[in-house]
Amino acid sequence: MNFCSHCGAPVRLAIPEGDDRPRYLCESCGTIHYQNPKIVAGTLPVSGDRVLLCKRAIAPRYGYWTLPAGFMENAETTVEAALRETREEAGAEVDNVTLYTLINLPHIDQVYMIFRGELKGEFTAGIESLEVALFREEDIPWDALAFSTIERTLKHFFADRKNDHFPLHISDIRKRQGADEPPAV
Ligand SMILES: [Zn+2]
Repeated sequence: MNFCSHCGAPVRLAIPEGDDRPRYLCESCGTIHYQNPKIVAGTLPVSGDRVLLCKRAIAPRYGYWTLPAGFMENAETTVEAALRETREEAGAEVDNVTLYTLINLPHIDQVYMIFRGELKGEFTAGIESLEVALFREEDIPWDALAFSTIERTLKHFFADRKNDHFPLHISDIRKRQGADEPPAV
């Protein structure tokens, strides 16, 4: 950040009085610009023994497969964000959603919240997807998944499916898992 979004004056990075970490400070209007992690909300749409994946039509990870997910917007709940992303990317509706994986990514300031639910009716690739398809466990393109959060969520799902028990999984991914892991969704 270089300039104050309130008044346009240059900002400087410094620790405000009483705080313990640097913030962007505007000395012209006095605003402290706090920056906080972003929530990525999405769904794991399930249809029988298959799950729905989207092939990305946008960078990063163009052409790789992912679950429908994206950044939460203001004035939304997490479930609303997950269902909206599912409509936008997969043209799909999902019922009976419950939170399934919550993954902290402190190195990129993101928190993933993936909701498991039942796929309802038809689906179709949205503008951010090249293709949308259903996959059985043996057909999952493990080497062509877009993000480690997606791989982790799918591994939990197919393991839990053997017991027909789907508890909430909370975990952390603390660094990039490979050189190609992008810093955004
Ligand atoms: Zn200002």
